[in-house]
Amino acid sequence: MTTKHILVVEDEEKISRLLCDYLKEAGFRTSSQANGDRVMAQVKKESPDLILLDIMLPGKDGMELCREIRQFSNVPIIMITARVEEIDRLLGLELGADDYICKPFSPREVVARVKAIFRRVHAEPRAQHLVVGSISLDAEIHQVMIDTQVLNLTPNEFGLLKIMMRQPNRVFSRSELINRVQGYDFEGYDRTIDTHIKNLRKKIAEILPGQEVISTVYGIGYRFSAPLD
Ligand code: CA
Repeated sequence: MTTKHILVVEDEEKISRLLCDYLKEAGFRTSSQANGDRVMAQVKKESPDLILLDIMLPGKDGMELCREIRQFSNVPIIMITARVEEIDRLLGLELGADDYICKPFSPREVVARVKAIFRRVHAEPRAQHLVVGSISLDAEIHQVMIDTQVLNLTPNEFGLLKIMMRQPNRVFSRSELINRVQGYDFEGYDRTIDTHIKNLRKKIAEILPGQEVISTVYGIGYRFSAPLD
């Protein structure tokens, strides 16, 4: 079990430090960011497991950031607002945040909400058998089939396909894929992912020629979509 990584986006240094201290105390790993314009790059690089996102920030604000993050990631997001009246408005905007916390908050409450989200995420059943169009993946016997043909994959290729098949059409960043397949992330592994994807594509193309089941999303990463019938 890897330590969950939480990104704290908050421009008030005192609050940011307090949150990080409490989260670390509760067993989480943390990183922080105070500038809204630097958040996207950090999210892509670090692939945090959860983001605490303050709304009023220098640079891009929390709402804009939440929308942008949702375009490529389902990472849980807890929005932090300074005004309780704002929560209704935020809910109406359907930003895709998982929870909202109002300032002033107790750090204990924040930690409790974070834990609650992780419990929820983990309670979701993880299907062992995935079917997307004519492609089926059975995690128990480690087998992928396209119609009636078996696809012979390496463990990394299998892992990548499994992650992407769980959420078809979702865009995954390279670092997120690395993190999920290998359980860790460090510089220089981006190209390894590209190689695995290239090989995976080649194997799929042998059975489904001319179909782009795994597409490249420029500047972000990869997306898996159902093959055409
Ligand atoms: Ca703020």
